[in-house]
Amino acid sequence: MAMTRITKIVTRIAAIAALATLSAAMPAPLEAATARGPICENIAKVGSTTYYSCNGSSHTALDISNQSCSEWNARGMILGTVNYKLYSGCANNCANPPPNPNCNGGAGNYYVVSGASGWDFRQLHINTNTSSATKSCDRCALGLVGSTGQSYGAHVHADNRQYGTRKSAWYTSVGTTCGSSGYCENRVGTPTL
Ligand SMILES: [Zn+2]
Repeated sequence: MAMTRITKIVTRIAAIAALATLSAAMPAPLEAATARGPICENIAKVGSTTYYSCNGSSHTALDISNQSCSEWNARGMILGTVNYKLYSGCANNCANPPPNPNCNGGAGNYYVVSGASGWDFRQLHINTNTSSATKSCDRCALGLVGSTGQSYGAHVHADNRQYGTRKSAWYTSVGTTCGSSGYCENRVGTPTL
């Protein structure tokens, strides 16, 4: 016997519901986020990319500075609201060399944005202030451009890692290199999260 019209509709609704359940159970897809510079001053520049100081040993991260310390906000770099988890406990520093280079494994005070499949995005060496806390926000102030941990001269170190290994595609793909702008309206990369 042919299905009645109502039976057909009910069957279709059941199929749609099954698909919706399936998609809800799938892990979130990896996304390329947009990362902008962390410092809202025009002179902010990228000083290290694949190599420290552009020609030293391997680095595979961006170091961005405006030649100041504990004066300017270090802002969240990801465009859109994400959760920045703070790891703190390091005394603020502007001295070079730093007096406590091993604080938090060399990262100093830092933030982590966690993504899927082992990916994360980090901002290191922050000097903390009243803005510093774990929070969800869109490019908000996270603290001050500082020099905590293994940092020789105040800057923001930004990296995109998968299972702890730093990757370079997120900044090479958009042409960020030594001397590129680190201004807060300039896109410096598309990290995977
Ligand atoms: Zn660095």
